[in-house]
Amino acid sequence: MIRILTLAALLATATALPAQTPPPAPAIPTDARVAALRDAALASDEYAWDIVEGLTTEVGQRMAGTEAEARARVWAVRKLTALGFSNVRVEPFALPVWERGFESAEILAPFPQKMAITALGNSGSSGPAGVTGQIIAFDSVDALRAAPASAVRGKIVFIDHRMMPTQDGSSYGQFGAPRRQGPTIASKKGAVGIVVRSIGTDFHRNPHTGNQNFTDGATPIPAGALSLPDAEQMARILKRGKPVTMRLTLVSRNIGSRPSGNVIAEAPGRDRALAPVLVGCHLDSWDLGTGAVDDGAGCAIVAAAAKRIIDAGRPLRTIRVVWFGAEEVGLFGGLDYRARHGKEPHHAIAESDFGADRVWRVDSKLGAARKAEAEALAAALAPLGIVRGSFEEASGSDIGPMAADGLPTVELGQDGTRYFDLHHTPDDTLDKIDPAQLRQNVAAWTAMLGVLSGGIEQPRRIRRR
Ligand SMILES: [Zn+2]
Repeated sequence: MIRILTLAALLATATALPAQTPPPAPAIPTDARVAALRDAALASDEYAWDIVEGLTTEVGQRMAGTEAEARARVWAVRKLTALGFSNVRVEPFALPVWERGFESAEILAPFPQKMAITALGNSGSSGPAGVTGQIIAFDSVDALRAAPASAVRGKIVFIDHRMMPTQDGSSYGQFGAPRRQGPTIASKKGAVGIVVRSIGTDFHRNPHTGNQNFTDGATPIPAGALSLPDAEQMARILKRGKPVTMRLTLVSRNIGSRPSGNVIAEAPGRDRALAPVLVGCHLDSWDLGTGAVDDGAGCAIVAAAAKRIIDAGRPLRTIRVVWFGAEEVGLFGGLDYRARHGKEPHHAIAESDFGADRVWRVDSKLGAARKAEAEALAAALAPLGIVRGSFEEASGSDIGPMAADGLPTVELGQDGTRYFDLHHTPDDTLDKIDPAQLRQNVAAWTAMLGVLSGGIEQPRRIRRR
């Protein structure tokens, strides 16, 4: 009986299916050479691991505009040259640099105790004496925005939120608002400081740093992030109903304009007149970990993929690898590249900046006239378990402004479920990278380059006469 009912239900579902599911992708055979390159990268790729291991070990953390980021550029030029890239160069630019100093937070009353905190980028400095104030709590930026200034003046704002892990990382946009906008709003309402629940999803006692800017003429105030366990502790203390007083000490300084730069390397195409394919990442990192996941991995993935094309022969189009500088503190590298090259034609631009976990979706925006190319790309990635996403929307961080300008884009979406456990924390270290998933990324980017670079040819043999 159950069996019959189940069969009937299955038949009903089956007849309903054609109307609900999109038509299957047209069968586009993947070039055998591209398929072979993809499968070889998946089976074994030492290049990507070698790059991220080398960068995080020999340079370590590399905050934008610092001497460490300068060493990273030297390391990058040497590495990319050694790998056989051509036209390896640095395009320099400068940016204002903020430096972290001593940081602490302690509850003075009603239950004296220390809390784990880190300053947000461009935080105002409290000076060594710190600022002391009563905590006023909000569960969102909107709640803070709605509060009268009289309720906030002279206090330390605390913003809580309920960010959850998501596969595509979409929660970062909404729940990142306390960090990005909270400090400015709190300052304009007269707060003496602000602490936010870290924009993260782990429960280690590691606060997550990240950038923010005081805008609209707001005076910089000390602005920090509490680790998730400390934010929850704060919420419990507040629930007891007594006034909560905190001393917040975040010492920092602005050291003025400092040099940064984009490191660029190319695999020259057979036809130099054709627009290049750009694959990017960012070389700078936050200062708490060693920037393995964010974004040493991305630089490793895109360079390893391009290297595998170089090993196979010459692409028709030039492949341009860009390791952007100073992404974390305001997309300075992406904006500099756009100012110099944004008006030049690019066949496609793409960026790897979401860790090292496996690619699960491909999105592209190549334009209606290139639908067949977008379909061919999706078909070449499907054997890696990568699902076809949008053909009308694809972007990235450093390439974001150029994507907005209308340059053709591809996005290989990585699984971000655990990305915000590590993001901008001391836990962003090499051991968090899974070599097998890293290889899957390299395989995906190799396939992407194989399709978009227009066909690879073996280097011509030089005949002896
Ligand atoms: Zn990043």
